[in-house]
Amino acid sequence: MESFGHIIDGQEVPSVDGAAFQSIDPWERKPWATVALGSAADADRAIAAARTAFDTGPWPRMSYAERAGILHRLADLIEADGESLALMDTTDMGKPIAETRGHDIPRSAQNFRFFADYSTVTAAEKFPMASGFHAYTEYDPAGVVAAIAPWNFPLMMETWKVAPALAWGNTVVLKPAEQTPASATRLALLALEAGVPPGVLNVVHGYGPGSAGQALTESSSVDRITFTGESGTGRAISAAAARNLTPLSLEMGGKGANIVFADADLDQAVSWSIKAIYTNNGQVCLAGSRLYVQRDIYQEFIDRFRAAAEALVIGDPKDDATQIGPLASEEHFDKVTGYLDLAVREGARILTGGRGSGWTVRPTVIVGAGQRDRVTQEEIFGPAVVILPFDQENDAVRAANDTPYGLNAMLFTTDLSRAHRVSRALRVGTVWANCFFVRDLRAPFGGVKNSGVGREGGNYSREFFTEPKAVVMNIDPA
Ligand code: NAD
Repeated sequence: MESFGHIIDGQEVPSVDGAAFQSIDPWERKPWATVALGSAADADRAIAAARTAFDTGPWPRMSYAERAGILHRLADLIEADGESLALMDTTDMGKPIAETRGHDIPRSAQNFRFFADYSTVTAAEKFPMASGFHAYTEYDPAGVVAAIAPWNFPLMMETWKVAPALAWGNTVVLKPAEQTPASATRLALLALEAGVPPGVLNVVHGYGPGSAGQALTESSSVDRITFTGESGTGRAISAAAARNLTPLSLEMGGKGANIVFADADLDQAVSWSIKAIYTNNGQVCLAGSRLYVQRDIYQEFIDRFRAAAEALVIGDPKDDATQIGPLASEEHFDKVTGYLDLAVREGARILTGGRGSGWTVRPTVIVGAGQRDRVTQEEIFGPAVVILPFDQENDAVRAANDTPYGLNAMLFTTDLSRAHRVSRALRVGTVWANCFFVRDLRAPFGGVKNSGVGREGGNYSREFFTEPKAVVMNIDPA
């Protein structure tokens, strides 16, 4: 058994009351690590360390270039330690090692490199005034940031929050998801090794309600809350943050529509659509979990899609060849398989897939569901796609927009005008035309409706993690 503590003020420490919990390897279905279980007392200790590091420490007072140098060193250390970080996330939540090694860990290093560089080149506005005055903007670091992360892309989502927060001079208390604690402790240790001063990046482990997570959202010493997770949790955090008027950014659930028009390049559409739902076992906020296929090609598309889904390799997530590992936990396996049972009760048909061995679910295709059925409306967050036919472009757009979510959508067509027209009509934060999951970190990232509040990425992250201050100077000698 490995063991992971909190990182508070530069030290790895147990909980104040000595409590601990176990992290379960979902492939072996056994505990593999003992983790400090944080309570409100531990969260308060971490907030106090972050507060002191912000109010009196060197980090917010360093030049952008100095901070960027340290964050680039941290990115180097993440890359050097990539294999063990990848293994930690894979062991904690069952994601195939090819994905943690090939995507999550490199992207985690890139998050630091990107925001380190971006923070040094973004300039403040100046507003020359004709009247003998001069106005300009200062971007002050916001203060202590509480970062609350989900389990589906552990290190990658954590660094998506921590990197911009640190680059703009804030101090952080990170609470990773209880299912995936390991790599966060390691990240904070690497940060210290890179030269991030003690107290600047703290990690506190624990659960949400009644535990460390809730305490972070209720503290009046926290200046920003950045959260990624379920929409229901986002509501609870919003209510808690409202008491102190703490600004917050919420990245939440999705039910991504993926529209395939009859004029699409079918090879391309099938291959991207497979990625869109089965990457990370469908445990992706951006998953293309509702596939709308134009009726003329419906049967051909389904035949090809089904064959590709059935060819995916299921197995031990630590094997290089595995494409589908177990779901992240027993609780999550029960939730996903509960939706498969519900689909049948609602009158739909499981064309392929269903329960596999242990906590695996085979790549699943649901057909015959209705637009208003719960499996079409709710986030299943597993390797299960609902495929529905449509006739006209307008029908597809209407159906795509018809859920409480609005994180992203995909469309496949060779008609350029249609690609623009449909992109414009979709009520989502991101549209991918003839692709999926491709990101430019300068672009806004977030969702509308129940999928998000606010945007992160590039300048959007600067807006969130700083306090823009107007300075007006009298330059008239009289
Ligand atoms: P979750 O909401 O259950 O938990 C997320 C985090 O919030 C965990 O660290 C948890 O301990 C904490 N938490 C729970 N209740 C809390 C409370 N009352 N106060 C403070 N903290 C609390 O989400 P999850 O199951 O870990 O993640 C999956 C969800 O995340 C899915 O809905 C998925 O769509 C969403 N997600 C969204 C994005 C995005 O960018 N929009 C990215 C990844 C995941």
